Amino acid sequence: MPTTASSMMLKDFTPPFDATVVTLLREWGAEIIGKANCDEFGMGSLNTHSVHGPVVNPFQAHSSSVPWVERERRSAGGSSGGSAAAVVAGMCSAALSTDTGGSTRLPASYCGIVGFKPSYGLISRWGVISFADSLDCVGIMTKDVSGTRHVFEALNVYDPKDPTSASANAREMAHRASAGTWTGLKGLRIGIPQEYFPSELSDEVLTPVRAAIEKLASEGAKIIPVSLPSTQYALSAYYVISSAEANSNMSRYDGVQYGKPIYMSSFRRCSSFGSGLHVPLPPASDLTNTASIYSRTRSAGFGPEVQKRILLGTYALTADAFDNYFLQAQRIRQLVRDDFNRVFHVRDFLSYSPKTPTAERSEPWAVPDDEVSHPLRTGVDVLIHPSAIRTAPLLGAPETDGLGAYVQDVLTVPASLAGLPALSVPLRPRDQEWPVGISVVGQWGCDEMVLRVGQVIE
Ligand code: GLN
Repeated sequence: MPTTASSMMLKDFTPPFDATVVTLLREWGAEIIGKANCDEFGMGSLNTHSVHGPVVNPFQAHSSSVPWVERERRSAGGSSGGSAAAVVAGMCSAALSTDTGGSTRLPASYCGIVGFKPSYGLISRWGVISFADSLDCVGIMTKDVSGTRHVFEALNVYDPKDPTSASANAREMAHRASAGTWTGLKGLRIGIPQEYFPSELSDEVLTPVRAAIEKLASEGAKIIPVSLPSTQYALSAYYVISSAEANSNMSRYDGVQYGKPIYMSSFRRCSSFGSGLHVPLPPASDLTNTASIYSRTRSAGFGPEVQKRILLGTYALTADAFDNYFLQAQRIRQLVRDDFNRVFHVRDFLSYSPKTPTAERSEPWAVPDDEVSHPLRTGVDVLIHPSAIRTAPLLGAPETDGLGAYVQDVLTVPASLAGLPALSVPLRPRDQEWPVGISVVGQWGCDEMVLRVGQVIE
């Protein structure tokens, strides 16, 4: 099957091998039925930046008796909107997605399904087209949490082909630490981060999320307000870091290594991209010059959003801007991580090296109990917050133009910057037409704990 990343650049590209995740799914007995639409190279929040055109959210068609003439054309969310639409429309029992800054959780929230971004490094990225390597994760979408757990169990394995694949020891330490002492909701400590309830949060999201939190409290969970003060800078830091890394990843699409050079095909700018950035093409007479082949190929092959990110990333990495943008963004990323580490009682096992020497441990992963948890043993088990600031926007709505699209990710990017597991579970408020997502976020490697809490909520 072709893999296009929804880009004109890869219109005719059929990969010569399967990604590790696809191989694992096949070995497990899954049938691959197709590849889904997405924002070009994963860059977007509404699945509108695609050479295949936008994805229309099928939620209404599959959940209500609204006559088709009255149905609204709302966004399925992005970037993995096609995967979410396929699940909600019942085309498949599960879909894979990617999540660099929220591309699994946002579409899941808009479409009323479960979307899971596991801890960074647990699922192999080998064979997955890169957007921003330090953030990219493979995501899982299903109708319920047990379906997600099922797929996660098949994919949660170390892959020597992926240099960022988490070691068996880190997995085992985190797994042990996240076993938890609570059963059901009794004894579970849930943190509610105040910064995740910004003024932009719509009432149609706030009311059902508040009701869900009250229900958890009434069933025995301890609700603890917490503060993650660096959250306010996370969105800006995310767009600087992801664009800088994308700038590097996109350089392989030059018409020679990847992508068809413009003189070899009927390469046309796709009309569905509409008007955006238009870099003037060099004259066709000059195609003997390598730079001119690159330039024409890339100008015609990339859509406007990808071109914008390349320019943004290039700028952030230039000598003049590096300190003010890229370095500052990396500092903020560390502050965001520190915020999370302060509130969770389990340690961050991705960056932690145990104090007890290996020789003194029964197994390499068997770290003494007092090293597993935060020394003070206060802290929360998981955090809960809305997945998105609103329900699915109408396709073409003016408030989702330009920076408006970026704001959709404000609640999802912090967990991405810190590499944490995050699960969006649908709430279906009875008096509302469109679904709302609630997110459960845990410490690195506490994926099982996050899934368990998600299962209680749904
Ligand atoms: N919407 C974000 C972006 O455009 C996140 C995308 C993603 O997670 N792939 O970068």
